Amino acid sequence: MDFLEYAEASAALLNADLSGVEGLAAYLDDREWLRSRATDRDCMLLRKFQRELRPVFEAGEADRVADVVSGLNALMARHPVTPRISDHQDRLHLHVATDNASVAELLVGESLLGLATLVCDLGADRLGVCSAPPCTQVFVDTSPNRSRRYCSDRCSSRANVAAYRARQKAVAGA
Ligand SMILES: [Zn+2]
Ligand SMILES: [Zn+2]
Repeated sequence: MDFLEYAEASAALLNADLSGVEGLAAYLDDREWLRSRATDRDCMLLRKFQRELRPVFEAGEADRVADVVSGLNALMARHPVTPRISDHQDRLHLHVATDNASVAELLVGESLLGLATLVCDLGADRLGVCSAPPCTQVFVDTSPNRSRRYCSDRCSSRANVAAYRARQKAVAGA
């Protein structure tokens, strides 16, 4: 995976329902070798990580760059990441070291590596929270003009319909 994929996986991890190991297995759907190793303890550690990580996305949504940076730095200090260069594909890229790492440690490491690289390369305002309440899902904005506001097409069209209805109502009331 490259850093953008790690960063997107990080948003998906924060949005995942990790109340039980089935939820974690669903999140790891395309990574069979990890799925088979996931435990309740991984779930518990990842739920804690979700709580730690959400304020970083909220700071990104509010363009509070210093809070994104200090939040990620604090998380990397708490969860030391060990990057390793891999050549298992046709290009060199970074992995998080896997020797003896639990599923939770690995996912946390990938998540932080991805977000830290994204923030440095593309900007701290690339992290966001969906603008279509009551949805609170997070996302990584990789659009060329930094215009993303919603976690999904579904929320985007729901917000458009709501805005349209509000305009109709205003017209009818005028
Ligand atoms: Zn790889
Ligand atoms: Zn949403």
